[in-house]
Amino acid sequence: MIYIHIPFCLRKCNYCAFNSKIGNEAEKISYVDALIEEIISRGDGSEVETIYFGGGTPTTLTLAQLEKILHAVEENFHVDERAEITIEANPGTVISIRNEELGIRNELVPNYLCGLKDLGFNRISLGVQSFDDALLKIIGRIHTSRAAIDSITLAKNFFANVSVDLMYGLPNQNLNHLRRDLELIKNLDVAHVSIYGLEIEPDTKFFELYNNNQLPLPDDDTCADMYDFITETLPAIGYRRYEISNFAKNNFESRHNIGYWTGKKYFGFGAGAHSFDGKLRTSNVRDVATYIKANVPIVEEIVTRQAAMEEFCFLGLRMIDGISAKKFYDKFDEKIFDIFGGVIKKNHQLGLLEVDGDKIFLSKRGLALGNEIFADFLL
Ligand code: SF4
Repeated sequence: MIYIHIPFCLRKCNYCAFNSKIGNEAEKISYVDALIEEIISRGDGSEVETIYFGGGTPTTLTLAQLEKILHAVEENFHVDERAEITIEANPGTVISIRNEELGIRNELVPNYLCGLKDLGFNRISLGVQSFDDALLKIIGRIHTSRAAIDSITLAKNFFANVSVDLMYGLPNQNLNHLRRDLELIKNLDVAHVSIYGLEIEPDTKFFELYNNNQLPLPDDDTCADMYDFITETLPAIGYRRYEISNFAKNNFESRHNIGYWTGKKYFGFGAGAHSFDGKLRTSNVRDVATYIKANVPIVEEIVTRQAAMEEFCFLGLRMIDGISAKKFYDKFDEKIFDIFGGVIKKNHQLGLLEVDGDKIFLSKRGLALGNEIFADFLL
């Protein structure tokens, strides 16, 4: 598995705490060079089944820049011919848009999406967040609802595997907005949907507004209703919930993300990217300028046997199918009930965990309280 971080965006969204910035053309050129240098220096010819370009907005790079990066990956790894190759995209960057209010004019080569497909990308993940223009403006997205619909429609001409990100709990958002969002999802018939509840993160415009009582957030009950509405409606319109926040049509589950939840090794390239070799978790320097000058990765964690057991449980439980007692035994040569029996029993009695033969998985109530249960698995 390979993750490639592209930290550039056309504009910073009001809620965004990701490692992203508005980059200029010279900086992008230097960044791509640094990225390629890192890929060459760490490439070991190992098998790669998934490649994921995330950000930031990877589609702020030109097709030629993306091609150079993919070429470096192919030269230094053994990329499976059926590999899943995803690119995250902002709807305002895959079609030409003009947002006079934000001063953004993105004149794109007309064949940009087709070009992505020709480069080998076979999955595109579009950060739509909402189909409501007023909400999009509040959260600071560069695109309109129309641009999102047009981007999805166009993307579907080139990709069978189109994913859409949606958010809930946004300022001024109500259930009617989400009703319309899911109606559009149904009509647009995308392959995959990820949902995110808004979190107010430090160093964002929303953080400042929130602290000044200027953010009209929906209350907890309304957010809970939104969560229930989304998690009940998506399966009703054909999307299987396969992870806490992810829904897919048959066979369109994200193989890359499943890799993270099942403890696979991965290389992370680019500013702030994390890697895991099965024992060590390392991270690159986060600052883009420093990364370009000289990246010195640091060891974040030595994953001990105990930490690996804990991760097996709390990452695996993110998935609706949960974890397998047999797989735990095969991996650690110990029975899961000998290690986590108390935690499993307690959460089972609370109605948060289900145990069915070999499988241990979150109940419907457990899915809504995921993080509290995961914390219980830290020994
Ligand atoms: S497009 Fe994504 S990464 Fe870029 S600022 Fe907005 S939320 Fe952050």
